[in-house]
Amino acid sequence: MSSWIVVKIGGSTLSSAGSYFSHAVKIRALIESGVRTFIVLSAMRGVTDSLLKLAWGRLGELEFLRELHYSVALELGGANLASVVDGILGGLGKLASTAPRGPALVDYIVSHGERLSRIFMVKALEAEGVKVLNVNALDIIAVRGDYGDAYIDYRVTFMNLAKVRELAELEKASPVIEGFIGRMSDGSIATLGRGGSDYTATAVASLSSIDRVFMVTDVPGVFSCDPRIVSGVRLVEELSLREAREASLYNVKGLNPKAFTPELLKEDMEIRIGTWSSKGTLVRAGASNGAKLVGYKGPTIALIGEGVQSVKVAVRLLEALDAGGVPVYSLEFTVEKPSISFKVPENLAFKALNIAHKVVVDG
Ligand code: ASP
Ligand code: MG
Repeated sequence: MSSWIVVKIGGSTLSSAGSYFSHAVKIRALIESGVRTFIVLSAMRGVTDSLLKLAWGRLGELEFLRELHYSVALELGGANLASVVDGILGGLGKLASTAPRGPALVDYIVSHGERLSRIFMVKALEAEGVKVLNVNALDIIAVRGDYGDAYIDYRVTFMNLAKVRELAELEKASPVIEGFIGRMSDGSIATLGRGGSDYTATAVASLSSIDRVFMVTDVPGVFSCDPRIVSGVRLVEELSLREAREASLYNVKGLNPKAFTPELLKEDMEIRIGTWSSKGTLVRAGASNGAKLVGYKGPTIALIGEGVQSVKVAVRLLEALDAGGVPVYSLEFTVEKPSISFKVPENLAFKALNIAHKVVVDG
């Protein structure tokens, strides 16, 4: 369905009632331009971290959670909504202080970040005159596996989504759903792992035959390396699906590996990552456009980009690391993957990242 797009609103862009309104204005403009939108919500900035701490008994977190959600609810839905929201958070506080703690309870508590966020987004969209189909992820996204790291059951979710799409077509409405959460077959709530709303977004797209996904975030796209560690990073304009998948395995821009599994990434899919006003990074199938980036996961650093997996690049890398006084513990590449990965001593990891970035991006 080419006129549809899944829009995932990242938590980094959600911090006030005003931020919900500004997304609503952009979404309305998109709809007015003839695009149908399926909206996936993250929790507000900092909320998932805070709920996790609360779930593990840090009751002091309640103050931050209550203050933030109360003021947003008040502005978006008035005193009634504010008191409902405050009641929900108060209830979570009680649970966190009395119930025996286990992974199911943790996920139950943590799921409320997204659940409240969807309520807020719906209010803002309605205020902007957008016709909304309010969709509870717990009724639609079927999951299995472990709490805190669940997988979407594609077969059941596919059937549930078909009903959502049918209703959305009938009512000419925009579905709005929570990312990151779903329901296990025993009825309990589970989360999909950190950054899991990206996973919900690509799954919803793939299972609904929607070929475009826009992941709205607070930075203009994917950079060639973490700008907090390496200077002179560049915006990567395009990534092939294979490169994006590889990048997701090495923590690049928090890309979620589950969101980029090959079974979800259909050949005609295009995923844009960026802000509303930036061109962003475009992820799509087909040949690489010469993307080059450097990621890291734990002690492992990886050069990523189709074509880096060659003896020539490996030699240049080893020489540069040697010249910089960084010993290499191991180095690995295969023709099947667009990357070279290597391990260095932990205390030299940042230095190695800078050297690797020079070799692959500037070199
Ligand atoms: N709110 C969840 C997290 O912070 C999911 C997401 O934002 O994608 O991990
Ligand atoms: Mg995120």
